[in-house]
Amino acid sequence: MTTNRVEFVLGNAQFVLLHELAHLVIAEAGIPIIGREESAADHIAAMLLIRPPYPPSAGNNTLLKFALNAADGFGIAWQQGSNLGAVVRYWGTHSLTVQRFYTVSCLLYGSDPERFAALPEMVQMPMERAETCPVEYEKAAYAMDWLFATYARAEGDPPGAPMEIRFEPPPTRISQQLLEAVRNQGFIDDTFRRFSEVFALKAPATFIMRSCRQAQAAWLPETRELIFCYELLDTYWLLSQQQHREAIESLLDP
Ligand SMILES: [Zn+2]
Repeated sequence: MTTNRVEFVLGNAQFVLLHELAHLVIAEAGIPIIGREESAADHIAAMLLIRPPYPPSAGNNTLLKFALNAADGFGIAWQQGSNLGAVVRYWGTHSLTVQRFYTVSCLLYGSDPERFAALPEMVQMPMERAETCPVEYEKAAYAMDWLFATYARAEGDPPGAPMEIRFEPPPTRISQQLLEAVRNQGFIDDTFRRFSEVFALKAPATFIMRSCRQAQAAWLPETRELIFCYELLDTYWLLSQQQHREAIESLLDP
């Protein structure tokens, strides 16, 4: 397995995990959301990678690369769907994947327009949109600070209920190998360790990686299970064939 393709899968998987944890926290804490929860979850996931609330053990660039790979994943998925003439879900609860691509790209650019000066042209984002990105980023940063100030555990607060982590057998040789890579990289353990420091669960919950015959992830409040399907890893592996690795590296290390 080439490291670059694995990195692409890891970045996308980390984004999905944070997106689903955002749903969990919104439901558990009853956080008021105006507008679409799916967009809020995307913003929260992107901002946790672009502007981590704590110094990340893996380093800032690793998280930025995760965010860039996640954006790339949305862009490639959109392109593939267009090539196949897939149904465009205008009515869906999620934004179109191409819009999710531009949301993450815009927050990245807005976080540091000097450092990411090449990004708008690279992703064909018109300057009139790019110019709004620093303000979009500032608003998101302000909201993230409010979120943490309002809902995060304060020092000395009792810990919440435990989150159990369970891995069921992967369905394919690729997902088996990717699971090993995921576990070696350690972002799942890291994410849940941070998560339990920051947020107090009201009752025990379980994170389960399993085969579900479809590429998806979800927080199921009834059973208190956060499901991550191995089929997602397989899907990102296939998408990674078209990753824009050089563009991403040139953005991070010009
Ligand atoms: Zn969602």
